[in-house]
Amino acid sequence: MSTQSSGAGPGDGPSAGAAAAAGGYPGGGAGAAGDAWETVIGLEIHVQLSTRTKMFCGCEVTFGEPPNTRVCPICLGHPGVLPVTNEKAIEYATRIALALDCRIADRTIFHRKNYFYPDLPKAYQISQYDLPLGIGGHLDVELEDGALLRIGITRVHLEEDAGKLVHAGGASGRIAGADYSLVDFNRGGTPLVEIVTEPDISTPDQARSFLTQLRSLVQQLGVSDVNMEEGSLRCDANVSVRHPGQPLGTKTELKNMNSFRFLHRGLEAEIERQRGSLEAGERIVQETVHFDPATGRVSTLRSKEEAHDYRYFPEPDLPPIELDAEYVERVRAGLPELPAARKERLMGRYGLPPKDAALLAANKPLGDYFEAVAAITGDPRMSANWVLGDLSAYLNTSGLDVADCPVKPPALAEMLGLVLDGTLSGKMGKEVFEAMAETGRDAKSIVAEKGLGQISDVGALDAVVARIVAANPGPAEEFRQGRDKVLGFFVGQIMKETRGQANPQLVNELLRKHLVGR
Ligand SMILES: [Zn+2]
Repeated sequence: MSTQSSGAGPGDGPSAGAAAAAGGYPGGGAGAAGDAWETVIGLEIHVQLSTRTKMFCGCEVTFGEPPNTRVCPICLGHPGVLPVTNEKAIEYATRIALALDCRIADRTIFHRKNYFYPDLPKAYQISQYDLPLGIGGHLDVELEDGALLRIGITRVHLEEDAGKLVHAGGASGRIAGADYSLVDFNRGGTPLVEIVTEPDISTPDQARSFLTQLRSLVQQLGVSDVNMEEGSLRCDANVSVRHPGQPLGTKTELKNMNSFRFLHRGLEAEIERQRGSLEAGERIVQETVHFDPATGRVSTLRSKEEAHDYRYFPEPDLPPIELDAEYVERVRAGLPELPAARKERLMGRYGLPPKDAALLAANKPLGDYFEAVAAITGDPRMSANWVLGDLSAYLNTSGLDVADCPVKPPALAEMLGLVLDGTLSGKMGKEVFEAMAETGRDAKSIVAEKGLGQISDVGALDAVVARIVAANPGPAEEFRQGRDKVLGFFVGQIMKETRGQANPQLVNELLRKHLVGR
């Protein structure tokens, strides 16, 4: 259920879709305050699993290989072949379902979803229908203002991906205007998990926050590379608008959003289109729509299939899957620490503010980096500030992953140690960090080479302060008369004399001693 050829699938079936949750809608409009429309959004997310082999055959799961080189009679749908369920795919799907707090069905079966399209050689997709693997979970999503929004998960089920059509000759790469189309079956039969949410989302921002956090969760489970550009994470949205208190409006399905930005822009455009139509007295037709990022417009792909159009029936070639409690508990025990739990732990153990904890929990390598630095420095707040500040900024600009960062946690921790013991000011620390990132060298050798380092030697500074106070009797007298501002003048003089390397706190103490202390 992943290509233009397929419809909304089981999301339109007996248990899901906007119609299922009229009572659970949390309210809230999508637009400016005071406008009379509210938006209801439910998402369907497809995750390609990173198993070694396909869902029902032994072909390798790959990306970017020459077309039609990872195929066999089973995934090509030749007559007389028998599919065999990939055990790893069941384990991965169970992991996702458990991480979303779903109940795991004790008995689940596959169905055939029948439709004809050139990327589907069997003319049916093996999917799940009324007995999905996971049911009734939720994900608590942190919104941009820090509030939590619980988004219900209707179902999590397993299915196989279709092949990929390449439309050639046209400018857009879409079927309209193409001279001919080619099909690559390498992707056909790749295991997919479909996650269907309740229609608990009411703005494009919330949809984006949900997808971002779901992506991070699935990534941390180690079951998919969740690469949106390569299509291993794809998102469809069911959208409708209504006046508050009214029954749900007719929904449309916005297909195949392949980036967070397109999801946001596509939703905005579709909400706008639906409101405009309704305000003009038109009716919304239940249909599948496509958002074109180039024009910013939404267009109809086709009228929407109903579940009965697919003539679902149980797949006769595959046995039911019965996951016993022991299996489920074994998978649950193997789950890594999930972002929500890690955020709580980072706040509790290190005293980090919620926002910092959420950022570090959402990005596993960065969170691990932070914990390694904090363990050495013993100052978690400062370590978090550096990891989320200078280090993240450097990674963004350089385009490097945390793993490839030339400054490893012990090296950053060593530099922070120099800031903590007063050898470096915070500002000098930034300079040293930049040099470390650029050269891969350690902090101490850079400090020595550049002659950096604060003057924290009391004896050396004391002499400078004494000399400057003696040389400026006028201002010194003013200070004694109570003009505190004169202190700034002295600090300036001392910094000039020491080329900015005097430890400011020490300068302050010494100045007060020399000006009034005796
Ligand atoms: Zn195959």
